[in-house]
Amino acid sequence: MENTEQRLSRLRGGGDPEAHNARTIAAMTRNPGCVRRAIMDAAGVDKPAVAAAVGHPTSIGRLSDFAVSRGISFETRVKSEGCAELLRLLREQLGLPVPQAHYEDLGSTGKGETVSGRYLRSKAMLDTAEQGTGTLFDHPLLRLSISGVWAYLEPDLVAFQLGEKFYVIEIKSFPVIDGVADASKVAASVTQSAVYVLALQSLLSEAGRDPGLVSHEVILVCPKDFSNQATATLVDVRKPLAALRRQLSRMDNIAALLHLLPANVTFDPELPAMELAQALTQASARYSPECLAACEMGSFCRAEAKGSTAILGRTVREDLGGVDAVSTALELATGRLQPTKDLLQAAHVLRLAQRMRTEALAR
Ligand code: SF4
Repeated sequence: MENTEQRLSRLRGGGDPEAHNARTIAAMTRNPGCVRRAIMDAAGVDKPAVAAAVGHPTSIGRLSDFAVSRGISFETRVKSEGCAELLRLLREQLGLPVPQAHYEDLGSTGKGETVSGRYLRSKAMLDTAEQGTGTLFDHPLLRLSISGVWAYLEPDLVAFQLGEKFYVIEIKSFPVIDGVADASKVAASVTQSAVYVLALQSLLSEAGRDPGLVSHEVILVCPKDFSNQATATLVDVRKPLAALRRQLSRMDNIAALLHLLPANVTFDPELPAMELAQALTQASARYSPECLAACEMGSFCRAEAKGSTAILGRTVREDLGGVDAVSTALELATGRLQPTKDLLQAAHVLRLAQRMRTEALAR
């Protein structure tokens, strides 16, 4: 009889689990009802390799060279001269009382330091930081436990201690134009910042300090308008933080999820494509169009969901509760199918929509 660890290893086809990062951890909250994703993430399955093996390669997580170099150049500018630009933003735009600040670079020493050694160095520095004056910690190494495995997070952020409080500062290269930024990019950045907040809270807990010292407000720094000037905003991350905690605790309880799968299933990317696709169908999915931007399995799951109302999005699926197939919806709308008692409400909505469409076309 396999224990949970052996079972997870077999699920991913042996080998080490895939390392998570802030983006992949943040993405776990996007579709918390999907068993397929929860199991694959908890087991550390190489989802891009699996997606490619079943004929649906993904480009999620891959940035263009231009986007990478723009991000690096903006971050370098904001942090130059001991983060002078950043300190100005904190004072002038956010009104934080920062007369001066210390600067600590916690980046890799490049002297054979291990990842866990570097994490311990970050922990020691953050734990013993002098209080009262502001301190900027550049590139601290944080970590989070994902299904019992440490995911080390090497963010491009600065953890800023002001008085007793720690703030997470996230530097992003997408622009804020006339005070407005791309909503999906802001949402993704806010959830990623929540990952760092959680990891910083975990670090303080490990150091025996109060995790409540980490502010639930993060500071998002972006380029302003079409310039290279920076602008800063305080964002409350309590909501994504709560969603993140729920999803991580669900994945910690992986044994309950594994009960939903036949014992011999594996998602080994080396399996023949048909066999692997068949194995994937053993774990129930909950596809919605948002999956395409949030999960490496999006294209596969969309193809699998073809012909179902799920492919039309959550709102349609909820409005048509109980009508799973598009063909059934069409038959109900046109009266070719008489609804059962539980489909009366959905049939009413569909017929109304059909009538409105017919009238609009006639006009
Ligand atoms: S793409 Fe598939 S596996 Fe990923 S969250 Fe959506 S339904 Fe689940």
